[in-house]
Amino acid sequence: MHNLFDRQLAAWPEAARRYRDLQNIETKEIDLGGMPVRVQFNPARAVSTLARTDAAAIKARPCFLCRDNRPAQQEALPFAGCDGRRYEALVNPFPIFPEHYTVPAVEHTPQRIAGRFPDMLRLAEAFPDMVVFYNGPESGASAPDHFHFQMGCRGFLPVETHFDRLRPVTVMRPGRAVIAVTSGYISGLPVITAPDGASAAAAFLRVLRSLPVSPATGEPQLNILCWRETPADGGSGALFRILVIPRKAHRPSCYFAPEDRSVRISPASVDLGGVFIVPAEEDYRRVNLQVLRTIIQETVNTSWQPVIDVGLLTAPLLRVRMNGGEEVFTLRNGQVEWRGRRYGRLEFRPSDGFVLHKVKIGINFHWEREEDQLFSGGLTILPSEDGLVAINSVLTEDYLLSVISSEMNGDAPEEFLKAHAVISRSWLLARPTLGGGATVESGSRGAPDTSADSIIRWYDREDHTLFDVCADDHCQRYQGLLRAGNANIRRAIEATRGMVLTDGPDGAICDTRFSKCCGGVSERFSACWADEDYAYLRPVRDSNGSDPLPELSDEQTARKWILSSPEAFCNTSDPALLSTVLNSYDQETADFYRWRVEYTQEQLSDLLRRRSGIDFGPVLELRPLRRGASGRIIELLIRGTLRTATVGKELEIRRWLSESHLYSSAFVVDTVHTGDSSIPSGFILHGAGWGHGVGLCQIGAAAMSARGYTFDSILAHYFRGSCLTRLY
Ligand SMILES: [Zn+2]
Ligand SMILES: [Zn+2]
Ligand SMILES: [Zn+2]
Repeated sequence: MHNLFDRQLAAWPEAARRYRDLQNIETKEIDLGGMPVRVQFNPARAVSTLARTDAAAIKARPCFLCRDNRPAQQEALPFAGCDGRRYEALVNPFPIFPEHYTVPAVEHTPQRIAGRFPDMLRLAEAFPDMVVFYNGPESGASAPDHFHFQMGCRGFLPVETHFDRLRPVTVMRPGRAVIAVTSGYISGLPVITAPDGASAAAAFLRVLRSLPVSPATGEPQLNILCWRETPADGGSGALFRILVIPRKAHRPSCYFAPEDRSVRISPASVDLGGVFIVPAEEDYRRVNLQVLRTIIQETVNTSWQPVIDVGLLTAPLLRVRMNGGEEVFTLRNGQVEWRGRRYGRLEFRPSDGFVLHKVKIGINFHWEREEDQLFSGGLTILPSEDGLVAINSVLTEDYLLSVISSEMNGDAPEEFLKAHAVISRSWLLARPTLGGGATVESGSRGAPDTSADSIIRWYDREDHTLFDVCADDHCQRYQGLLRAGNANIRRAIEATRGMVLTDGPDGAICDTRFSKCCGGVSERFSACWADEDYAYLRPVRDSNGSDPLPELSDEQTARKWILSSPEAFCNTSDPALLSTVLNSYDQETADFYRWRVEYTQEQLSDLLRRRSGIDFGPVLELRPLRRGASGRIIELLIRGTLRTATVGKELEIRRWLSESHLYSSAFVVDTVHTGDSSIPSGFILHGAGWGHGVGLCQIGAAAMSARGYTFDSILAHYFRGSCLTRLY
């Protein structure tokens, strides 16, 4: 290709002159959000910047990308795209880059990226010294009627060299790709990093699905910049870097201003990548930081948010009402049958949402029932071994509104609801499986069978393979739009839009766990799940004073702590407060800060046999072997006349010692003896707290809110060292 460039410059004086002129062109540098962008006064680009792109003008002019209308001197280098698509690389005679190419499709076909993104990746792979870019038909393309990519040499666009300073925060991992959101320069843009074309293409489709579609073109307005680079640290293999710039307008208002005030910049990939092209000298003089800010504000959609794929239902037959009609889908020979034809996968983006008939909610719970539900966003129908799977692609904020409305009481204190909106959003976006990436499973140490002496199990978020989350309590209860009505919850979500907690200013999104009541001190992650800990989930004394953290892993200290009722935010029995935090407060006890459960010998040995599958015989002893920072037992020795075994971690202990779940594993045991039998006649469990106790304490946070703490101070209290970061 470089040979083509040299040949063209030798044979085409007009093009050669413009490339020469480029070397003496006037530019100025402006610092834009920490990135030094350049403004280029480039009169030759008037042909593109000032081009009329309305349908009538396009129709009236001969297409300059069609072979028959090109200048006689212009040579073409054939390039094979994927699936037989054919392109030609041409030297661009109106350059911005020191080497600048246009790569049109051979045939005259509209500018639409759908189906052609793999060709962009192939170009980036074939020409690693080039940045490949795409300008959508309403996003800077001056030939919206003829499909084309462009390429310019690497190292020219500031965005490329400043890529790492864009501080992207990872929000999703589809396969081997990572989708992140930029902060700094232009914040809120999706960026994809992927080692291979297949995962890059899958990640791009995911970003594409999250953007609103323009009715005029049937696809989102956007610019794309893509290149392939070897990591600076010499890490293994090259990576695709893809910056997607969602757009909301083709040209800014200053473009159309009266001549004495106008700045005719028609922003496209190159401009938004950090080199703003101005063909008119008086316009060039007017460009300053404020002008650039306004141009970006008016043309770039910086509120990109990830789309979540929610698995709604698996059934042999699906009935859906959308676009004013009733549609029936059936599973036939491993495919989706619809209107007499079969498909491997069907995707719809109905503008008014869709109604899915007979969605089963509360599966395996006592409220199990079927009802019609209304959803916004896209619908995908896939065949699976168990039936047709209905998947709803819904924007993160809409998803949160629905699940928080299901889970929370709208009468809860406002700052508490805001804090909860942030942790629910962080919890969701920190899921390692979001986007179908790496799996986090329940785990166990030692043999999983009950014949072992030590049964240590934990249950973390399990993976789904066809979608990100299911609509049931297994993930979070999601019931579409019908239940998303509470005004207070809507306000809390809007007030915290795009906000997450990150592990330090540039860190990953925090895995923000929460439970009902910590019991006075919050617990470490490793007490409940895998053997790892996070600085932002360090134990916290749940009070406002300077009370020192008690050493609750010590048995004597734990006993004293649990048998007393120390001051704490969650040490409250205010019924007004509790009724807003607990879903069915009327049916539940207020005694969760300190509680007591009593079993007779018969009750306990019977319970243990049924719940653990192990016959311990009459129980002689319950002895805590290891406690966490909150006093929760991590390993409990159960000694019976027939068997002795150690059980952990906290949830498994709670499951074994109760018909449903014991409030928490933070308890001490009093053994009751009657008569002179060596076998105890009963056991009294004195406990503290409700739930695993890691991260935010819901009762404590609500009490803080009622006492006037703001949501950010509540979050800073429970997640020490975390940063409140606005992703979009
Ligand atoms: Zn054409
Ligand atoms: Zn699930
Ligand atoms: Zn607490």
